[in-house]
Amino acid sequence: VIGTGPGSSDFMSKRAADLLSRADVVAGYTTYLDLIQDQVKGKRIIATAMKKEVERVETAVNSALDGEETALISGGDPGIYAMAGLVFELCRKRGIPLVRPGVHEETPPKGKGLVIEIVPGIPALAAGASVLGAPLTHDFAAVSLSDLLTPWEKIEKRLAAAAEADFVIALYNPKSKKRNWQLSRAREIIMAHRDGGVSVGIVTSAMRDNQKVVITTLAEMDRAEVGMQTIIFVGSSASLGYLDFMYTPRGYAGKYPL
Ligand code: SAH
Repeated sequence: VIGTGPGSSDFMSKRAADLLSRADVVAGYTTYLDLIQDQVKGKRIIATAMKKEVERVETAVNSALDGEETALISGGDPGIYAMAGLVFELCRKRGIPLVRPGVHEETPPKGKGLVIEIVPGIPALAAGASVLGAPLTHDFAAVSLSDLLTPWEKIEKRLAAAAEADFVIALYNPKSKKRNWQLSRAREIIMAHRDGGVSVGIVTSAMRDNQKVVITTLAEMDRAEVGMQTIIFVGSSASLGYLDFMYTPRGYAGKYPL
């Protein structure tokens, strides 16, 4: 289960690249497969669209049970709003034994279980933060605005709690064609606890050819273009802008002469 990172293969770990090159079968969402075309040439591809995650994971698990080296890929990190959790859900439901590589002397016999390795990748929150500067240098919370699998009331509760506690908030899945009101509502909730003047950094397609960066404020963020490949960082009361950058001081200036 491989995280391919935020964009181009320059930002993929060596372990991810090695395992991908060894794989017979590669399963993933088409957008992410397209980003790593060169690495998956000549392999059997299981490409499925968004919202077909269960089908994709099922096919990948079955192919691994058949004894094929199978790579299930996710953009960013596979354990952050991505496929790794679903692999465990499915295997647990079906009673498929899983072992870590190298832990047991013997690998499970064909069809009886799987050796599973989760290879971490650079998540959008780290990629986007690095493009902006250093917005996550102090405590932060990540909240996904997708209510496809999470009830919206729960998302509102988490947003309010994070805003109230003055966390920097990284907003994942801010908008899609169908989910077009959630971001404005999220902004309203955060505004109830936070000054409209705090810095907001908006990064679209981090580490890809069409990367876009906008630094604005909470009050004005509604005007920026936001899409499916955008991550938004709402600053805490301490976050600041400097030139074209956004950062959150950890407090050194208050303690040491800079
Ligand atoms: N596993 C991924 C997250 C998948 S959820 C990770 O670890 O980053 C999909 C959401 O991630 C998108 O809606 C967007 O909010 C964010 N995202 C993924 N890749 C991105 C990128 N290159 N630039 C900005 N945001 C990105």
